[in-house]
Amino acid sequence: MASESAKAILTIDLGALTANYARLCREAPVSEVAGVVKANGYGLGVLEVARALREVGCRSFFVAHLDEGLALRPHLADAAIYVLHGLAPRGEADTEAAGLIPILNQPDEIARWAAFARHRERRLPAAVQIDTGMCRLGFSRAGIEGLNRSLLEPLDLRLVMSHLACAEEADNPLNQRQQARFDELRERLPRAPASLANSSGIFLGSSFHYQLCRPGVALYGVNPTPGRVNPMAPVVKLEAPVLQVHDVIEAGTVGYGATRAIGPGSRIATVPVGYADGYPRAVSDRAAARIGSWKASLAGRVSMDLISLDVGGLPREAVQPGTMVELIFGPNGLDELAEAAGTIGYEILTRLGTRFARRYTRPAVERPV
Ligand SMILES: *Cc1c(COP(=O)(O)O)cnc(C)c1O
Repeated sequence: MASESAKAILTIDLGALTANYARLCREAPVSEVAGVVKANGYGLGVLEVARALREVGCRSFFVAHLDEGLALRPHLADAAIYVLHGLAPRGEADTEAAGLIPILNQPDEIARWAAFARHRERRLPAAVQIDTGMCRLGFSRAGIEGLNRSLLEPLDLRLVMSHLACAEEADNPLNQRQQARFDELRERLPRAPASLANSSGIFLGSSFHYQLCRPGVALYGVNPTPGRVNPMAPVVKLEAPVLQVHDVIEAGTVGYGATRAIGPGSRIATVPVGYADGYPRAVSDRAAARIGSWKASLAGRVSMDLISLDVGGLPREAVQPGTMVELIFGPNGLDELAEAAGTIGYEILTRLGTRFARRYTRPAVERPV
């Protein structure tokens, strides 16, 4: 199709995703490993991602919003779905009907969920989050110390969790401090499985694993151990066809703001991806693309729908209209683009646009764990 051939293609390798899940299971062999699929599976398509993970044995999933949980439930009949943002205002009936597990973050949420359980005359599943140092979501020390434990009686406490602020910095002393606070404060709650580690937390060692680990970004191929070799397989590839090639005859400039000077003899290839597709404008003049076995650098500013590549150093026949150019590629593609943009792989992933042709490659056949 003509409309297809002029489009960028985002390939999401579900086989690499499930291989990454298996890799994390090996890293945390005595814990359950959940899948964090908030924000549409970090932008990659929550249904495809969650189904692929479910097929290889993932039984617990985390979303941020109630609506995300409601959308996911029909596709994951038999999995635990935790809602990180807790019990939404007036969300009791929907949460119960969909069998979601709210992660209760403050006293009011416990009170409302417990009252609803009494009203329904059944024990309802719940998780409790303790804030051990992020000051973001969860019970503070005072909140836990002041908690009337009998409030939890109508609830089936499935998980007690906290979240690390600096897990990707293995030497950061806050990791141990948060862990110590977690161990101290969860003693004050009824016994329940515990969870502390996100992707990077899994690589802090077995004392951080507890009964359940909650990786997100590592599943999608971002390096959870910055500064060390990426243990994860790349899941995302972004490529696009060259629209036009300019043979530069006279000295001039490329793109908005005329920021990049070019001279006679240079060649510029134009590619239909821009910041409206989540390709960050901040990488103007910085990022590189791959064309076959060559690299070409960006020339000038990223436009809304286009970028320009300096292909003067490449053989003429290697770059023609229709030639595919890779924009997110290789074992560290997301991390490299993020670095050039001054951001993190999480942000690149979750902003990947809606104009790409999305292709899912099937999971490799693996036994459920
Ligand atoms: C997003 C999130 C995770 C997953 O974090 P990653 O760094 O992507 O592995 C785990 N726990 C909580 C509370 C989160 O908000």
